[in-house]
Amino acid sequence: LLEIDGVTKRFGGLVAVDDVSFDVNRGEIVGLIGPNGSGKSTVFNCIMSIYKVTDGSIHFDENDITDHQTHEVVNSGLSRVSQESNPITAMSVAGNIQLFTLPNSLFSLRGGASEAEIYEYAARVDIEDKLQEMPDELPHADIRRLEIAKALATEPDLLLLDEPFAGMNQAEITELAETFRAFSEAGITMVIVDHNMGGLMDLVDRAVVLNNGEKLMEGTPDEVTSDERVQKAYLGTAEES
Ligand code: ATP
Ligand code: MG
Repeated sequence: LLEIDGVTKRFGGLVAVDDVSFDVNRGEIVGLIGPNGSGKSTVFNCIMSIYKVTDGSIHFDENDITDHQTHEVVNSGLSRVSQESNPITAMSVAGNIQLFTLPNSLFSLRGGASEAEIYEYAARVDIEDKLQEMPDELPHADIRRLEIAKALATEPDLLLLDEPFAGMNQAEITELAETFRAFSEAGITMVIVDHNMGGLMDLVDRAVVLNNGEKLMEGTPDEVTSDERVQKAYLGTAEES
């Protein structure tokens, strides 16, 4: 479904992503893991055309999307939940979700969603009883759920999730993992970024490991967690931050 081929992203002299290639097959949940600063968010920004790649190509559903504009990428069926939450605090939860369905140069162009559709996006992340609340009245975990509902509102085939579990307690993490399993059963393919090696491994089918911008390896959760290079990359950096 998604093919990342030799993607490199430089910022001046800094090589943030260095010749990284991996594929995501339809129906999979793939983990993209690596220590802080290893290039995970930059890969997502390249896929979404927030950053222009320095080198390499990105194909989605067999179309070359490398040089597409972000709204074209979104309209082709890709959506991303950023590492940082950025709700518009002067609008309700429902308004924030609706915004992602309106004509806009960055996002979807489908021209608005019905109230029932907004309810459905919210219900898929268990915030349907909070639609009339303002985002800054919500606890952290619900703000993260709102960010996911916004991404769902563009009806993605492939959802990129950047550190979705960050700042959540164990009960919230367990619940969100169940939510992602439900997305998968509903036909959404997912790539989930986490800087921790451990937490994600029960959820993903496969993981790609980045280190210093380079792809260290990819494999099944068992192959990844038992790999000496991966353990070495994580030495001293595996603490929760
Ligand atoms: P974290 O786990 O902390 O989120 P990450 O794996 O997502 O880390 P990136 O945010 O992709 O890492 O950053 C990779 C490298 O690229 C870092 O050295 C970062 O400082 C640099 N970088 C990312 N975006 C930019 C930018 N817009 N301008 C300059 N440097 C950048
Ligand atoms: Mg990041």
